[in-house]
Amino acid sequence: MNMNLLVALDFDGTLAALKRDPAAVRLSAARRALISRLGKKAGARVLIVSGRPQAFLRRALAGSGAALAGEHGWLLEGIGSRWRHPRLALRSRQARALAAAARAAVRDLPGVRVEAKTAAVAVHWRRAPGVRRDPAGLRRVLAALLPDGWRLAGGKKIWEFRPADAWGKGEAIALAARRLRARVVFIGDDETDEEAFRRLGRGAMTVKVGPGRTLARERVRGLAGVDVMLKRLTKA
Ligand SMILES: [Mg+2]
Repeated sequence: MNMNLLVALDFDGTLAALKRDPAAVRLSAARRALISRLGKKAGARVLIVSGRPQAFLRRALAGSGAALAGEHGWLLEGIGSRWRHPRLALRSRQARALAAAARAAVRDLPGVRVEAKTAAVAVHWRRAPGVRRDPAGLRRVLAALLPDGWRLAGGKKIWEFRPADAWGKGEAIALAARRLRARVVFIGDDETDEEAFRRLGRGAMTVKVGPGRTLARERVRGLAGVDVMLKRLTKA
């Protein structure tokens, strides 16, 4: 029996190069075509799993045919009926309050940008020279704001408030795989992807993009390596 294939892909740093301004990150036409071609293969489905808001992913992936799981997998659309985590409404109320508190707390730190998401609050410090010298100092400031049921996670030039609920990219991918009865390939580059590599375990083909320690089974060196893998999966 030929099993279905779910190809789950992180966005930033996996499908699009990181930029100083996260809002300026775009998917290239060539890579959009690769994703579209892979998704049209019989039995194959592409799912983008990202910490980005769903609205951002809808714009960035328009025309690619990919299913979307934004907010670290708290939302899923494009594979079966539209799904959202049962605590999303509660967590989004808390996120709004937390974003306001974070903005007040970093007012005197030039270059720090607070991004309110639906169920998370990202604090970007890529453009903050003071914080680049002492990221842990900013972490301490933010940790003082943590409400019950939330945690502070690190990423690439970012601190992020995230719900402590045991739900993330890996759980969303597993949900999508159950719906499709598919085996999983997951490619990602960041901390949240490591959590998903752990969650998916040996049953999935996991691929880390770039250097550094990883729980993934395979590694590619950069975005060009991701392209090679997408082409290989399309032909396989
Ligand atoms: Mg990434």
